[in-house]
Amino acid sequence: MRRFTWLSSWVCFLLWQGSTSFAEPPAIEPTVSIAFVGDILLDDTPGRVVKRGRDPFAPFAKILSSADIRVGNLECVIATVGKADPGKPFSFRAHPRTVRVLKRHFDAVALANNHSGDFGPAAFVQMLGLLQASGIGYFGGGKTLTEAHRPLLIERNGLRIALLGYNEFFPRRFEADTDTPGIAWSEDEQVILDITNARKMYSADLVIPMMHWGWEHKPLASERQRQLARTMIDAGADAVVGGHPHVTQDIETYRGKPIIYSLGNFVFDGFKDEDNNTGWLLRMDLDRLGVRAWNIYVARIDREGIPHPKTGKPGLCWSRHSGARVECEDGERLQ
Ligand SMILES: [Zn+2]
Repeated sequence: MRRFTWLSSWVCFLLWQGSTSFAEPPAIEPTVSIAFVGDILLDDTPGRVVKRGRDPFAPFAKILSSADIRVGNLECVIATVGKADPGKPFSFRAHPRTVRVLKRHFDAVALANNHSGDFGPAAFVQMLGLLQASGIGYFGGGKTLTEAHRPLLIERNGLRIALLGYNEFFPRRFEADTDTPGIAWSEDEQVILDITNARKMYSADLVIPMMHWGWEHKPLASERQRQLARTMIDAGADAVVGGHPHVTQDIETYRGKPIIYSLGNFVFDGFKDEDNNTGWLLRMDLDRLGVRAWNIYVARIDREGIPHPKTGKPGLCWSRHSGARVECEDGERLQ
């Protein structure tokens, strides 16, 4: 009997080895897909496009709607009140009519950036009300410092995902305070605490910070970006997604977790150069262990600031199973 048990366990072990060495690991259910885009400016030409009844997101509508959760960085305030910041060369304020267009394509927007405070706290608070009334989630900003650092929780297919947002590009005066509205600034210690709290206090299964950082027009992330991204992953972030440089930047995998340093522009006018008019839509497939796979759709931004999927230009893709980054055609995904 003992001999039989020993033999059967050995046979089982061999069979198990055979089945796992070459086969795909089974997907860990449930899975959720999330799409991230970079800077969205709904003032200037894109604002006029909306005013004329057109939708600047239309060419990407199908790709966006195929994801369970859609997130972008709102690089302007949406309001009718406030005064342009006299200390800034560019101040952006979009008309409230743009909210309806945003709602059509996005579940949530990041507010932690260097433009959401362009028209002062009253305009910022008006925007919070408009977003709330339309059912668009937001993160990285709020009526108080506590609110700005609180994660936005989105639950899909039984997975609870926490989104956090931070800016670290000046001016810092847009930062929220104990009882004044504004955005979240990325002090390392606070970021670590927020990520820990997202799991402990808010029972998040996954935590993804969206960053506004880096030097404009630089194709490679700075040492500061690299240090902070790693700090966030060490603290428990499942991925780090960033923007602001107006160009896409390099990508890193750290402890098996992706760091997409900059998605570049998405809806943005006023740039002449090819690299400024190239953006990424990042799609990530998530499960309980983190990011299972990601792939990038390349966007070409036209003179009106409208992004178009760039067919024939392969994007990148990656999967936890393969561990390698390869070129993929038109949104093809690795398993
Ligand atoms: Zn920016």
